[in-house]
Amino acid sequence: NYDYKQKDPELWNAISNEEKRQEHTIELIASENVVSNAVMAAQGSVLTNKYAEGYPKRRYYGGCEFIDVSESLAIERAKKLFGAEFANVQPHSGSQANQAAYAAFLKPGDKILGMNLNAGGHLTHGAKVNFSGKIYQSYSYGLDPDTEHLNYDEILKIAKEVQPQLIVAGASAYSRTIDWHKFRAIADEVGAYLMVDMAHIAGLVATGLHPSPIGIADVVTTTTHKTLRGPRGGMILSQSKYAKQINSALFPGTQGGPLEHVVAAKAACFFEDLQHEFKTYCEQVIKNAKAMAEEFKNSEHIKVVSGGTDNHLMVLDLTDTGLSGKEVQNLLDEVMITTNKEAIPNEQRSPFVTSGLRLGTPAITSRGFNEDDSRKVAKLIIDAIENYDNEQVIEKIKKDVRSLTDAHPLAK
Ligand code: PLP
Repeated sequence: NYDYKQKDPELWNAISNEEKRQEHTIELIASENVVSNAVMAAQGSVLTNKYAEGYPKRRYYGGCEFIDVSESLAIERAKKLFGAEFANVQPHSGSQANQAAYAAFLKPGDKILGMNLNAGGHLTHGAKVNFSGKIYQSYSYGLDPDTEHLNYDEILKIAKEVQPQLIVAGASAYSRTIDWHKFRAIADEVGAYLMVDMAHIAGLVATGLHPSPIGIADVVTTTTHKTLRGPRGGMILSQSKYAKQINSALFPGTQGGPLEHVVAAKAACFFEDLQHEFKTYCEQVIKNAKAMAEEFKNSEHIKVVSGGTDNHLMVLDLTDTGLSGKEVQNLLDEVMITTNKEAIPNEQRSPFVTSGLRLGTPAITSRGFNEDDSRKVAKLIIDAIENYDNEQVIEKIKKDVRSLTDAHPLAK
């Protein structure tokens, strides 16, 4: 009965304001989602009190008998969900999953080849400002300048020049299906390990809506909070033969005590992801993204990078609108539509400004938006961009956003 709102209003007002913000905004950040009450309850449980260094049945602390049950549930469910032989559910984040995966297969100074940040890769795929570009010699591949798709012949050419020890496939802002077999062939040709970071598309992979890298890549990493719709966190999947080296690269290699409340929330998430409804949800995520992309393609000044989407996201090229990614992100914030600026292929502006915008449909689909709603959202974005200096239009868009969020309340 601790009245925390009264005792600590600064903190609790921030939290309740964030709750209201989420209720009244259209959330289009492609890496975000809305978790269930079960995920929230597990993460907010007493498991946060417990230290449990080690792995189930091999802990460095006493009193782990129930933690062992919840972590084993998370492991077994993850294996079932992805058809994997081995799962480590302890990474605190996607970045830490990647850090441990590299450490399991590489020595400092080895060469890695990953997707360029501007083309849609993640910081941990070898960006020079990130540990992955400091500890390892990092090289990158981009998109084909004409099709804005991955060009596997070009990646092979780069791989032959670089001779990396490990190739990373996967992205943060790539809207097309990735051919894991082609990456495997490239890795085999140069004698490299293949790591797939499926953080963005993991939910689509789990439901068979994107081909699975399991059994093709040597190691697969993911976050659990994007299309998987779980708590913020990471995971590593692989074959049993790599279990020992991956487990020890994570703990004691790169992390200390696991966040067992988050691990339990991962178990709750995987339970939900194994249900039939989750596939229906993921199908709707893709339908919504395609519906939005079609609207943008019909607009006068906005281009969709690569000409469309096969998954949950798209990148808009705003060059012909005369506005930068930063300006459009701020403009949309004003009308309660949350997005993030994004580099476009061959970006000329800084990462703080950019010429693009990334949009994704996992969060709006979780609150019940269908294709019609998604088309309306795209039209509102086009209207806002074309009328950014017209106060009356902007006010009208705010009202339309409110009608859409009121029609689809966040589940309580
Ligand atoms: N990998 C990819 C492909 C991502 O998109 C992200 C996050 O956006 C990460 C890894 C890192 O995840 P985290 O933010 O949990 O460290």
